[in-house]
Amino acid sequence: MIVLLKDNVASESPEGLNILRYLSARPGITPKVHSISGTGRLLTEIYVVGDTSTLDQSEIEHLPGVEKVVRVSRSYAVIGRHKDDTRNHGFTYNGIKFDQDCFLLFAGLCAVDTYQNAEIMMRALHDNGQQCARMGAYKPRTNPYSFQGHGATCLPWIFELAGKYGIRVVAMEITHDSHVDEIMSSLHDSGHPTGVMLQIGTRNIQNFELLKSVGRQNELPVLVKRGFGITLDESLNATEYLASEGNQKIVFCLRGMKTNLGDPHRNFVDFAQVPVVRRLTHLPVCIDPSHSVGGREIDSSSILDLMHVSAQGVIAGANMVLVDFHPHPEQALVDGPQALHINELPWLIEDLNIARRAFVDRLELSRRTHQE
Ligand code: PEP
Ligand code: MN
Repeated sequence: MIVLLKDNVASESPEGLNILRYLSARPGITPKVHSISGTGRLLTEIYVVGDTSTLDQSEIEHLPGVEKVVRVSRSYAVIGRHKDDTRNHGFTYNGIKFDQDCFLLFAGLCAVDTYQNAEIMMRALHDNGQQCARMGAYKPRTNPYSFQGHGATCLPWIFELAGKYGIRVVAMEITHDSHVDEIMSSLHDSGHPTGVMLQIGTRNIQNFELLKSVGRQNELPVLVKRGFGITLDESLNATEYLASEGNQKIVFCLRGMKTNLGDPHRNFVDFAQVPVVRRLTHLPVCIDPSHSVGGREIDSSSILDLMHVSAQGVIAGANMVLVDFHPHPEQALVDGPQALHINELPWLIEDLNIARRAFVDRLELSRRTHQE
């Protein structure tokens, strides 16, 4: 159950304290407060954990300061979409809006290798009107002898270059909670020229202690990758760890499933589930065609499989696309075979825009059909 308080009613106000006292007095019930301040308003939501079946919904709705009570219909209460749910969804970070209506491209290096390559990439993004990038610094690798990423060493120059080329948000994976501190302190030392979206990779989606510690900080948003060998439900429950700890700035990313049934693609592309995630949760949905397809194969019209699956995800409502690029893919230290070339960026952007326009047209058609 979620108890939504009226605008500007804080949990420490007399009404807020009275509601918390009322809930805490019920046996087996624990209230958890989430406050969101933005656009001059304070929104407070109380997540009621425990056996809520004994609670009287209309009695709670009549307590002073209560706007509405929402009965939670899924185990992932905070990220879930529930009946009669009027909560404000989405978030703005460093001037970029993330919600189920947004459409963003995060193109860039799978792993940052050299300053020059990072600069070529950021300049290309800038020249093509982009304000977001992907730049991997900490890489989880299958083999301990493979390149593990430059880690904290490359953060100062990534941030400097992002600032120089007007990149407002850089997505980068972290594999340990100490990486969050390294990123925060490097951002601070460089004067916050950009923002960082932390990425939880597919291998760490069930690292619950990492999720909890990333969820406890509220400054940096988080891009969570779906686990490549677990159910969607398990991935969504894992994502709830972030939200239940207090960070609701979350984007959920589909990146393909590990099974030979997807051959010849690296992973079995799961973008048919974009609308499913949009229906089950209120999170913006990202697709990662690079790690799904894993190569640069083309069809008879010279369109890359990677672009076909991107279009399929976008036409089904994806809000964000995360794509690997590299100025010299043959020299890339990680995932070169799946990287797009820098001169393919305008093509990808235009191709994605075509698919997005088709999605918007489909929404309009559905609206018209249901009005008739
Ligand atoms: C990545 O995006 O660089 C990555 C390693 O992705 P995944 O966790 O989906 O394998
Ligand atoms: Mn990769």
